Amino acid sequence: MKLFEIQILVFVALLFVCPLFVHGWGVDGHLTVCRIAQPRLSEAAANAVKDLLPASADDDLGSLCSWADRVKFHYPWSSPLHYIDTPDNLCTYLYSRDCKDENGTKDRCVAGAINNYTSQLLSYGKDAASQYNLTEALLFLAHFVGDIHQPLHVGFTSDKGGNTIDVHWYTRKTVLHHVWDDNIIETAEQRYDNSDVDELIDALQKNITAEWADKVKTWETCSSGKPPCPNVYASESIKAACNWAYKGVSENSVLEDDYFLTRLPIVNLRLAQGGVRLAAALNSIFG
Ligand SMILES: [Zn+2]
Repeated sequence: MKLFEIQILVFVALLFVCPLFVHGWGVDGHLTVCRIAQPRLSEAAANAVKDLLPASADDDLGSLCSWADRVKFHYPWSSPLHYIDTPDNLCTYLYSRDCKDENGTKDRCVAGAINNYTSQLLSYGKDAASQYNLTEALLFLAHFVGDIHQPLHVGFTSDKGGNTIDVHWYTRKTVLHHVWDDNIIETAEQRYDNSDVDELIDALQKNITAEWADKVKTWETCSSGKPPCPNVYASESIKAACNWAYKGVSENSVLEDDYFLTRLPIVNLRLAQGGVRLAAALNSIFG
């Protein structure tokens, strides 16, 4: 093989291992949210999910939890639906102020998308269902409930939720957003879970029934209306972004054990809340 052919092969291989703009938890984060949610579904919700999933998914919502990231090129309109940009350094979120895309079109943010796909799914079993693709609505909802719990998905506008902040994760160069999508989860899996996402999911499920058991009810309910309540989730995320994700980080920061060990509990909590709330939303919608 000629050198230049090898270079092309290496370049193509890199395209697969280094996705440049990942939005949302990485594959393992989304898988975790959906795997926590599915066993918590009521019989009615479990049946609806089974009915709406394509046969190829074999009734496993987790297998398609990252579908919304894979269709961004096919559905370019969906890209702004994965996050919310809030004003720099304010550390607050307001739907009326912040839920818009870069052109200022209202409702085009992850909270608006959760509302939209929830209302589409409420037509399940009714005449109005025929105007929607409810399979896609389910896959979008499952993904976006995960995304809105990633603190930097409700980040600052000028740094695109940490996407323009270069950092080192131990010795590797990356951006802050990616640290929260993937690196913290990967490092935790390597250190504590034999690099096995199923062990991470098991550990979180145990915490949901033990350490967090008395909090789960409040996670599942909304102070007003029925779940999902994306405005609550988004407000929590921007607070966590300020208190934990951005805190002490500047351009070219080297993030190591100090950062990893103090932020991992936040990542675990947000993954667990995402899963519990996705189940609560689906139970409410299909109940
Ligand atoms: Zn996403």
